Amino acid sequence: MSKAGMSMDYAGEDRERVAAMRKRQVLIVEDEFVNREILKAYLEPEYEVLCADTGGKAREMIRAGFDTLSLILLDLNLPDLHGMDILRWLREDVHFSKIPVIVMTSDKESEVESLTIGAVDFITKPYPMPKVIQARVRRIIELNETRDLIRETSRDHLTGLFNREYFFHYAEQYDHFHGEEPTDAVVMDVNHFRMINERYGKAFADEVLRRIGIAVKAFVKQNGGVACRREADRFLVYCPHRADYTALAEEVTAAAGGGMKGKIRIRLGVYSGVDKAVAMEQRFDRAKSAADTIRNSYNVTVASYDDALHEKEVYAERLLDEFQEAIDQKQFLVFFQPKFDIRPEKPALCGAEALVRWKHPELGMISPGVFIPLFESNGLVRELDHYVWREAAAQIKAWKQNPGKTVPVSINVSRVDMMDPDLPEILRGLIEDNGLAYGDLHLEITESAYTQDAKQIADTVNTLRDMGFVIEMDDFGSGYSSLNMVTTLPIDVLKLDMGFVRSAFSEGGDTRMIRVIVDIARSLNVPMIAEGVETKEQMLALKELGCDIVQGYYFSRPVPANEFEAFLKA
Ligand code: C2E
Ligand code: CA
Ligand code: CA
Repeated sequence: MSKAGMSMDYAGEDRERVAAMRKRQVLIVEDEFVNREILKAYLEPEYEVLCADTGGKAREMIRAGFDTLSLILLDLNLPDLHGMDILRWLREDVHFSKIPVIVMTSDKESEVESLTIGAVDFITKPYPMPKVIQARVRRIIELNETRDLIRETSRDHLTGLFNREYFFHYAEQYDHFHGEEPTDAVVMDVNHFRMINERYGKAFADEVLRRIGIAVKAFVKQNGGVACRREADRFLVYCPHRADYTALAEEVTAAAGGGMKGKIRIRLGVYSGVDKAVAMEQRFDRAKSAADTIRNSYNVTVASYDDALHEKEVYAERLLDEFQEAIDQKQFLVFFQPKFDIRPEKPALCGAEALVRWKHPELGMISPGVFIPLFESNGLVRELDHYVWREAAAQIKAWKQNPGKTVPVSINVSRVDMMDPDLPEILRGLIEDNGLAYGDLHLEITESAYTQDAKQIADTVNTLRDMGFVIEMDDFGSGYSSLNMVTTLPIDVLKLDMGFVRSAFSEGGDTRMIRVIVDIARSLNVPMIAEGVETKEQMLALKELGCDIVQGYYFSRPVPANEFEAFLKA
């Protein structure tokens, strides 16, 4: 066990033992018999009093019984050692230094020095009234026990670093004393910590965290500042500004990996020269945003919060703030992009995908690529999706009346929606309220949703299919699902991730991956849709490869409902 861990346990045990004994132990170090006896008489009723008449004996007794001593009363003039030397000796040991010391002296000059070295109080000789001595002793013991308690509750047990609450408190204090000095907020995360936990077990993962803790502690000890383990694998450091953190990143990475070089990777986010008008927690949120930008990067280990990131955050904040208003004012528009069946000689319209846009009164048209991930991260996407679905369903109903014809419209169902137990009922309501058939709506579920909780998703998908919905697996092949999983999943259509089309038709690209996925679709006996198809050549090549349905700019961009009618009427 690390030293830090040991001292933590010690503090806890110590208090328990002392509490069990009831009578606190006090050590009097005093060579004059009379003084010793007087003090002893004052304190005996309340304490278990131990006595030492030389410095040597005192050290022996402290070594043997440090963990039960509540207080030391120390005379400065001893026959063998000077009291100051004993004080220094006490302060140098992690365990001994926790015992409070009251210095007893007739020499006024020594007071300041002894306080500087670490005595907590002093009593001048000749002794004051017994009551005064008793009160001081009692107060010092109480203070020290409270401090121990704080020390313990303020620490993370695994690493001995501060925990979150105390860290923010001490960081504020740090500012208080270093107000003018430039300071950095640093966030450290272990890449894929969950995987480490799963692959190597909790004991190993804990060991990794403990080693990181030691490295972080060493860093603040050397450079100043405060540090904590915020939760799980996240460490925070608040420290004097420095230009470069690669050395720290390397040190921590090396420490974390122990003997296993390269196995464990750390990423650092730095908010450098923090703006002290910004709330403390937010400073670390900024450092965290920086760290997140390199979440998937293999080479970069340190990222800084900069103006661009700041602007992006301010923009995201604004979108979040204005979401509700945008829903209420119907700023979200639903566009439709046609899907064509390319198996016949002449491609035939066979469906559409409903895609949302945000027509913002000041920011203009905003792409869902910008706001969907944002709303997915906080659940707002659910409300937005319900809105889009209602708009799409109402549109289908309208088309059924005029021009009296429609095609199945796919709506996007996000991960968040899939976790919603009310989803089947919400969709049923949509169908019934608009007098639609279940076949009028197809549901696009992104492949990555399937990996979150495969069993739960599969159950939900089965329920939806039993109701009569067609399920399209969107973004297929984007890298999450194993082929094995796909074959056991309930789906009706595979929608190839656009990336395959992009790379197949870019320079030096080849179509082998598409061929593999066409084979998978064939073996599952489901049609395959390719999206992002921009040219006639691409369309023909895909047809040649065995792809059934195509969606993309070649046929049409996503367009407003009134423009889409032209396809229905054709
Ligand atoms: P997605 O579901 O994969 O949608 C396909 C995206 O590809 C759409 O982008 C579409 O406009 C674009 N696209 C279609 N043909 C082409 C082409 O030939 N070339 C290129 N370069 N792009 C093409 P969009 O509309 O920007 O949507 C982006 C993503 O936002 C969608 O990806 C989907 O994940 C999400 N999204 C859009 N609308 C909704 C919605 O109503 N609800 C939810 N949950 N997500 C939505
Ligand atoms: Ca989609
Ligand atoms: Ca897609």
